[in-house]
This record gives sequence, structure tokens and C-alpha cells, in this order.
Amino acid sequence: MIEQEKFGNFTHQDAPKYEDILQCMRCGFCLPTCPTFSLTGRERSSPRGRVALARAVGEGKMEFNQAMKEEAFFCLDCRACTTACPSGVQAGSLMEMCRAQVSQQHPLPKWQTGFRNFVLTKMLPNPDLMETSMLPARLYQQLGIQWLVRYSKLLKLGPKWIDKAEGMMPELHQPLRQNIPQFSPATGEKRGTVGFFLGCVMTLMYAEVSRQTIKVLNHQGFDIITPKAQKCCGAPHMTEGDRETTRQLAQHNLDLFMDLDVDAIVTDCAGCGAALKEYEELLAEREDHTRLQQFHSKIKDISEFLVEVGVRAENLIPVNKVVTYHEPCHLCHAQGVSKQPRDLIRAIPGVEFREMKEASWCCGSAATFSLKFTEASQKILDRKLHHVAETKADYLITANPGCHLQLAWGLREADMPQPVLHLIELLGEATPDH
Ligand code: SF4
Ligand code: SF4
Repeated sequence: MIEQEKFGNFTHQDAPKYEDILQCMRCGFCLPTCPTFSLTGRERSSPRGRVALARAVGEGKMEFNQAMKEEAFFCLDCRACTTACPSGVQAGSLMEMCRAQVSQQHPLPKWQTGFRNFVLTKMLPNPDLMETSMLPARLYQQLGIQWLVRYSKLLKLGPKWIDKAEGMMPELHQPLRQNIPQFSPATGEKRGTVGFFLGCVMTLMYAEVSRQTIKVLNHQGFDIITPKAQKCCGAPHMTEGDRETTRQLAQHNLDLFMDLDVDAIVTDCAGCGAALKEYEELLAEREDHTRLQQFHSKIKDISEFLVEVGVRAENLIPVNKVVTYHEPCHLCHAQGVSKQPRDLIRAIPGVEFREMKEASWCCGSAATFSLKFTEASQKILDRKLHHVAETKADYLITANPGCHLQLAWGLREADMPQPVLHLIELLGEATPDH
């Protein structure tokens, strides 16, 4: 835990910093960019309102009350407000800090705390356990129980989040991490060596995306090292306010990857990329700042990396499809990677790219938001699907497993024909097998 000076009605541990809160000059430029403000029209559900609540708590004018607690979790942490803010206020990050405060000031009942702690501190940091835990879900699909459950519409009778969680489940396959070679050699003329950060959700839910990333990077001339000892990036812990476990995971992954002799550390998961890029700030209390900076400079989203090194397009197979692109918040707002995915799409022969309206507006997934606030999430998703439909695209492209799950579910529920593809699957379709 990071101990700091007591700040109003925040506790000593992992409290927001007063100077960060004071950055807000209440201009309101952020308001039109905030999905929860757009939904509710309520000041307290806006970035400015959330910062004001945190300020009141910090200045001791308000307890860390129910409203503060609700707004900390109702924030999507989409960071759209930060992109718009002239002062660089990070309302999403402030709300993450407030979530850490919730677990200290408003602890859940004992059994819920026990379950939450088990998931966050035992299960997620243990890739073997994570992979084993998916076995019942795979059997559920393979034995046809899923078909029966969906056909009978039984889950429609229960809480909406259970029906949605089940409906979002993609076709599951064998865990990938143990089967990926530690070293995959480049094909053709070698251009460098990269470390591959897999990400748990990506490999457990969308193993094919990870496979395509390897195929594409090898084809583009890169040797790949995929260390099997890598662990969760810590994003779920950050989201749930468990900053201490996030720090432990960050230190583990940082040491593991910094011991490799690689030019870059590449990930195809926008959420992981954003979390990895935040290690520098998260571990700022540690002494080795040069190592932290070096790590930070090596982290690249796959689109960022490929555009930086230049895509070898000469052997690509044309993909004659119209595609549109949904920007994951954790790519465009958290990492500032917005142009590169479009450049990559345009580099693929045969593809016609059609921009959708509000491409960088959140899809309503936002980690557990889509299950905790099913109604709000649905409204945000409907807005997105409307813009997808307007493009009449054949494929909807994105670059984050959370968005992928939410969009694929939404399209299916709305009887829309477009499959959702990760950007690297599109490039993989254009890349010859060897
Ligand atoms: S968060 Fe930024 S954009 Fe929003 S009111 Fe404060 S200073 Fe203005
Ligand atoms: S992070 Fe997103 S949901 Fe949260 S305050 Fe900012 S714009 Fe609103």
C-alpha cells in the first residue's frame, strides 16, 4: 500500500492527489464527451461533477458517501473526458483511486469480500488457475448445454446480467499460453525481435487473435519471444480498486520482459497496453526510474508498432470487404493511438474503409460496467450499433477483447449481420500462411 498524508475524508492509502483534483477549472469542455453525463444529464455523473465530489471529500466538506461511491463505479473510465480536457484532468483515473477508497471505507459483506479477494489476488494473478477455471465453460459449450440454455431462453427469467454474461461468451478453445512456442522465428528478411504480451482475456476468449498476431509479426519479419511466466497486466485489479495487487503484477511483468533482449513489447489488447503503459506511474515510488522509462518506451499496441516500423504490404492478399472501425477507449483515449489502426486498415489491399460516426465513443463494455449497469450499458451500445448500421460495412473492426465481447453480443441481439474482427484478424486474412 502507498501511505500518504491524510487528505480530508480520504484514508491514508491510495487516495487521489489534491493537486490532480485542483487542476479542474470547471470549464465544462468535457461534458459533451462523457457517456454517463449524456445518458443522465446529471452533473454528478459528469467528469466535472465527479472531480467536484472528490474535491469535497478531499477538503473534508463531505464524507466519502454513497454518491461518491456510486459515481466511482458508474464512471466507465473511458477517458474521453481527458482527451477533451484543456487542463489534462484525469477524471477516470481519479475515479479508479476512489474505487480503492470504496474498498477501504465501504467494505462489502464478508462473503463478497472473500470472493472478490479470491478472484483478484489468487485467481487472476495465476494463469494456470485461470486456464483451469475455463474448463467448465468449455464443457458447457461442448456438451451442448449452452445450446439448450439459449434455445429454451431460460435465463431470460433471471437477472439480466446473468443472461447477458452467458450471451457474451464466445466459442471457447483450449488455453493458448502453454501451447505457444516461447520463440517464433521471423519469415523472410528479419527486421527485429519483439516480446509478446498475451493478456488473459485475449488468450482465454480470443485465442485466434493471439495466433494471428504471431503469424502477422513473423510475416512482417519479427522474431517473437512469448514468455510463459507472464501474468495478468493488472487492469481488472485497477478497475476494482485493488492497487496493491496491481503493483505486484506490474513488478513481475516488468522484470520478466525487461530481462528479454527485445526491441519492443507488443500487445494486441488495448486494455493491457493501457495498463502496461501506466506501470511507470504506478511504480513511481520504486527507485529504478530509468528501467521504468525504458519499459514504458518499449510497450506498443500492435497497430502502433506496425505503423511505426512500416507495414510490408507487397505479399499481402487483397481482402475485398467494406470495414468500419470502433476505437477502444483504452487505445484512443488512454494511449492516444487513434490514427495508427486506420493507417493499418488502409494498408491492406482491397479493403474499403468507411468511418463510422462517433467511432471513439465508448461501446458500454468498460470491464464489469456492462454487467453491473446493464440498462445504461445497453443504451450506450445502441448508440454505437446505430452508427455501425449506417456504414453498411461487411466487418466491424476493433482492437480490445472487452469491446469485442460487447459488440459481438449487441450485433447478434440486434440481428445485424456484421461479424466483429480484431484489427489483426483482418490483417491476418491478408497475410499468407507459411
Ligand atoms: S475536467 Fe477538464 S474539461 Fe472538465 S470541467 Fe474540469 S477542467 Fe474543464
Ligand atoms: S472517464 Fe468516461 S465516463 Fe468517466 S467521467 Fe470521463 S468521460 Fe465520463
